[in-house]
Amino acid sequence: MKPAPFRYERPRDVIEVLDLLAEHGGEAKVLAGGQSLVPMMNFRLARPEVLIDIGAVSGLDQVLSDDRRVTMGTRVRHVELEHPPFGGPLGSLLADAARHVGHLPIRLRGTFGGSIAHADPAAEWCLLAQTLGADMTVTSVRGRRVVPAEEFFRSAFVTSMADDELLTEVRLPWLDHNWTTGFSEFSRRAGDFAVVAVATAVKMGSGLIVEARIGAAGVGPTPVRLANAEAALVDQPLSPESIAAASEMAGQEVDPRGDIHGSADYRRDLVRALTRRALR
Ligand SMILES: Cc1cc2nc3c(=O)[nH]c(=O)nc-3n(C[C@H](O)[C@H](O)[C@H](O)COP(=O)(O)OP(=O)(O)OC[C@H]3O[C@@H](n4cnc5c(N)ncnc54)[C@H](O)[C@@H]3O)c2cc1C
Repeated sequence: MKPAPFRYERPRDVIEVLDLLAEHGGEAKVLAGGQSLVPMMNFRLARPEVLIDIGAVSGLDQVLSDDRRVTMGTRVRHVELEHPPFGGPLGSLLADAARHVGHLPIRLRGTFGGSIAHADPAAEWCLLAQTLGADMTVTSVRGRRVVPAEEFFRSAFVTSMADDELLTEVRLPWLDHNWTTGFSEFSRRAGDFAVVAVATAVKMGSGLIVEARIGAAGVGPTPVRLANAEAALVDQPLSPESIAAASEMAGQEVDPRGDIHGSADYRRDLVRALTRRALR
């Protein structure tokens, strides 16, 4: 299929993008890497009248880090995060997750911000944003606002961004060397979207877990934090026993629906197994 006719705009700076979004609102779509939008247009599931290509807009493709946070420009490509420009537990979490995003040609063009804005319930970056409590910066001619992940992801493919807003950056909290991170995913074939994926981040202090973050994707319309499983880890050593208890809790805590890729029980089992693997 070919897309329905559209007008193509290639602005050079953010102000121009915001003016175009203000002018065309719901009739316009931002084009980032095109790896989700273009197939949807070809199938005519999306029929924007105006396509605003942000590929030439300066200042949206940087990764900045300090000892408090990592700020990811919206246009950072998936492939760049296979080898993030910083190390540590956050660097290794991003690298682990990046390798699961589609195939190399998709990772070469698709963007971090495009994935967050698209809000696929099984997307790796949405899972990490939810698990780590990322902040999304969205901008329009009306001003700028920072939206926490838990408010940003509303439902499958639905975010709290308005039609005239542009996602400009995503801030992830810096994880120092007291943290240890894990990522585990199951998909039917390499490169497919996850059936279920789990991300974990655990902070140690004096031999005990002082903070835990566990998130799962593929178990509902948005990625979810597993608060009971997290609580089961706090004040425990990171041991086979505590990992087994938290994984069991994680499986009980999710409420997935079955579909052609797996029944609800199967997904619950996957959450148990993947939580155990990620924590190990
Ligand atoms: C075969 C295949 C397999 C894939 N497998 C995976 C996978 O395993 N995991 C995964 O996470 N993804 C997967 N993807 C999707 C891929 O990661 C996309 O890159 C991503 O979903 C969207 O990023 P993009 O930059 O291509 O955005 P686009 O396709 O350009 O845009 C997607 C949507 O977000 C909006 N948008 C983009 N940028 C902004 C912005 N800055 N502000 C506001 N709105 C914006 C667009 O208007 C559009 O509605 C796969 C894609 C394909 C084709």
